[in-house]
Amino acid sequence: MEIKTDALVLRTADYGENDKMLTLFSLQYGKISAAAKGVRKPGAKLRFAAQPFCFAEYVLAEKGERHTVVSAALTDGFYALREDIGKFYAAACVTGISDAVLYGGIVNEELFLRAVSALGEMCRGNEAEALISFFLKALELSGYGLSFGACAGCGAPLAEGLRFDLSDGSFYCGECARGAGASLSTLNVLRKCAGQPYDAEAAGKDGVLRALRLLSAYFGEKTGARVKALGEYIALLGA
Ligand SMILES: [Zn+2]
Repeated sequence: MEIKTDALVLRTADYGENDKMLTLFSLQYGKISAAAKGVRKPGAKLRFAAQPFCFAEYVLAEKGERHTVVSAALTDGFYALREDIGKFYAAACVTGISDAVLYGGIVNEELFLRAVSALGEMCRGNEAEALISFFLKALELSGYGLSFGACAGCGAPLAEGLRFDLSDGSFYCGECARGAGASLSTLNVLRKCAGQPYDAEAAGKDGVLRALRLLSAYFGEKTGARVKALGEYIALLGA
C-alpha cells in the first residue's frame, strides 16, 4: 500500500551502502521513519528528498510499520538555510525541537505549519526571532506555555528586578521573588516574538541571546530533552 503525505525532514542517518533513514514530520501522520534507498549515490533522483529541512510531498510504500520513499515532489528546500551558518543552526533548532516534542504517530498540524513557516521566515529575515517565536509556540503546544504578561504571583507589572521560575515557566516581580533573576531585555524579546506589546528599546540583541538561553534551560527542565543544535546556535550568537 502507498500513502501520500506532506512532510518535513527532521533528521537523517546513513545506513547500508547508499541509503538513508529519514525521520519525517508528516502533516497527516505525525512523526514517521522512512527509508530512502540509493539516495547517497551521486546523481540519485531522490537525493534532494533526503536532505535536512526538505519539505516535500512524499509517496511512501507502507509495509506493516515500515515505510520506504517511492517518490517525492519538492514544495520548498529552504536552500538559503544552507548558505548561512547562523540560519543553518537556527533551522536545526526548529527540527530538533520538533523531533524532541513529537511522539510517533501523534498528529500535530499546528506545530507542522509553524515549523514550515519558521523555516521560511529564517530564509527571508531574522532567524533568531523566528526561532524564538517557534520555540514559544512549540512549548505552548506541548503544555509548557510561558506566562509573561505580569507577575504570576501578585499581578504587578514586571519591572527591573524581575525573576523567572523554571518550574512553572512564569515571570515574577522582585517582591514575590520566585526563581532566578531575569532581565527586561529577555522579557521584551519574548513579548515581541510572541506578538505581544513590548518595549522596543529594551528588546536588544543581548535580549535575543538571553531569551534563547532561558527557553533552552526551561525546555530542558520540562522535557528532559537536549537539542544539540540549540547549544551550538547559542554559542554562535554569543561569540
Ligand atoms: Zn509579584
